[in-house]
Parts: sequence; structure tokens; C-alpha cells
Amino acid sequence: MANQIDSKTKICGLLGYPIGHSISPLIHNELAARYGQNLVYVPLQVAPEKLKDAIAGADAWEFLGMNVTIPYKQDVIPYLTQIDPVAKQIGACNTLVRIEGGYKGYNTDAPGLYRAMEEAGAPIEGTDAVVLGAGGVAKAIVYMLAEHGVRRIFILNRTQEKAQALAEELNAYYRKAFAYGMEMAAYRKLPEKDLLVIQATNIGMTPNTDAVVIEDPDFYSRIGFAVDVIFNPMETKFMALAKAAGAGVMNGLKMLLYQGIIAYELWNHVEVSAKDAQEIYALMLQKLQG
Ligand code: NAP
Repeated sequence: MANQIDSKTKICGLLGYPIGHSISPLIHNELAARYGQNLVYVPLQVAPEKLKDAIAGADAWEFLGMNVTIPYKQDVIPYLTQIDPVAKQIGACNTLVRIEGGYKGYNTDAPGLYRAMEEAGAPIEGTDAVVLGAGGVAKAIVYMLAEHGVRRIFILNRTQEKAQALAEELNAYYRKAFAYGMEMAAYRKLPEKDLLVIQATNIGMTPNTDAVVIEDPDFYSRIGFAVDVIFNPMETKFMALAKAAGAGVMNGLKMLLYQGIIAYELWNHVEVSAKDAQEIYALMLQKLQG
């Protein structure tokens, strides 16, 4: 149950364009009810030419915080008062926290995925990791993997130049040559076993559930653990192919849960319990299955 709304109700929301169905209001309004906070979380659709005004307006109305989704994770940066160093390096913010004089930007996608992978027992440290995609989420993911000690990172992308640029950026930042940017078809050159593969493109999402970036069973036979950042459908074709080849698999729903929980913790200075996280996850599943 949501709180009663009154003059003390704090406002949070999801900034994006367009904003269709979103599970984020469920996560945050449920957390507010469980932690007894007088807070409401609402979708905040903003047209591109109004983004700057929207952030200034949110500050004027003293909105406690916002999540940021497609297409604004990079576009919000010029309008922030401060940016967390990790978010700055990634170049994308999905969470804004109100501070003196405006908003501070964070990236909770990367730690959200880390928490989800840790919980699923996905191996990271010392593995050879493959990231499919070189967009905004892939960028957050490669820094997370590097921070948690992967051995090498192979970034495969339809547009090879973007994969190479991201690999070069990582190598320069960590001052070692451990990241490689490749075209998608170059998967045949990857190590032959125990790969940790993270699917970070939007290929395979409903309604295009028959789509997958790589079809070849030879690729899937090299995977030890496979993660898809997509959660709709709950099992993507990428996950089904990896599972059929004997790999451990997980989808992106727990990543969504934990990026939300970390944002909520930043806004409200509380620690969400594992029990609440599991119960909210169950509600998310119920909502998705509809
Ligand atoms: P983005 O910045 O637009 O990047 C899209 C990526 O997909 C790029 O690498 C792009 O390759 C690739 N791609 C697009 N169409 C393709 C095609 N037809 N064939 C091959 N590759 C294609 O998007 P993003 O923000 O990184 O988001 C990626 C996915 O992550 C989305 O599905 C989003 O819903 C999901 N996501 C999940 C969570 C979660 O919590 N679970 C959080 C954030 C995002 P090019 O560079 O060649 O264009």
C-alpha cells in the first residue's frame, strides 16, 4: 500500500522519453511502504527539448531523486551539480540524488548487475568475459567487470569501431592491455571454454523474441555462465541457447531490482534487507507475468 499523500510527501520519479510500461514505480512505492517513508515515485516523461527545464523544475519542487532511462542517461550529465567518479568514467547516470544546489548523478546499473550476479553465483574474478554490445549498458558493465577482477574482456559489437573504442578506453584507464574490441562474427577467435558472456544489446526483446545476436552453437559451447540484461521475455533465445549448451544462465530482472534498490538506498539512507528484496522481486515477477 502506498503512503497517504500530504504536504510532506517526497517525490521521486523516472525520467525518460517515451516512458511506456515500467516496473520501477512498483519497486520504489513498495519500498516506501515497507520502510515507512512518505514518498511517492512516478513516471516523468520529458520531451528532449525540455530536459534541462525538467531537471531545474525538479530541483525547484525539491524532488528527492530521479532514475534516468533511455534516452537520457548521458544527456542529463551537463545539467548536474556533481557526478560520482564511477558514473563520470562510465559516462552515464541512471540515478540522480538531490544535493545542495541541484542533483548528483550516479550509475546504479553496474553495481545492480554485480549484486544480481553475486547472488546467482556467477563467476567474475579471473574469468575471460565477453560483452555483446557496446552501448550505454555495455559500457557500465565492462567497468564493473574490470573493477571485479576479470582476466580479459572481449567486447563484440555490430559496429566494430565502437567496440574497439571502448576497449581502448578501458585499456588506457586501467593501464594494461586486457580488453579487445571485435566485430560480432569474430566470436570464433574467442577462448574455447568457461567464458562469462553478458548479452547487453536490445536484440531478443519482446516482440522480437526469435532474434539473437549470434546463432552458432559453437559459440554457446564455449560459455560457462551467460547473463542477458533483457528480462522480457524472462528467457531470451540467447539464454535458451546457452542453457541448452550446459551453461548457467540469468536474465536482467534482478539487475533491474538491485539498480532500483541501490537508488532507493542513496535517496533515503536506508539499507534494504535481503528479505524485502526477495519479496519485491516476487511482486515484479507477478506483474510481468501479468
Ligand atoms: P544502446 O546504448 O542503444 O545500445 C544498444 C546496443 O545494441 C549497441 O551495442 C547496438 O550496436 C546493439 N544493437 C542494436 N540493434 C542491433 C542489431 N539489430 N544487431 C546487432 N546489435 C544491435 O542501449 P543500452 O542503453 O545499452 O541498452 C541495451 C539493453 O539493455 C536494452 O535492451 C535495455 O532494455 C537493457 N537494459 C537493462 C537493464 C536492467 O536493469 N536489466 C538496465 C538498463 C538497460 P551498435 O553499436 O552497432 O548500434
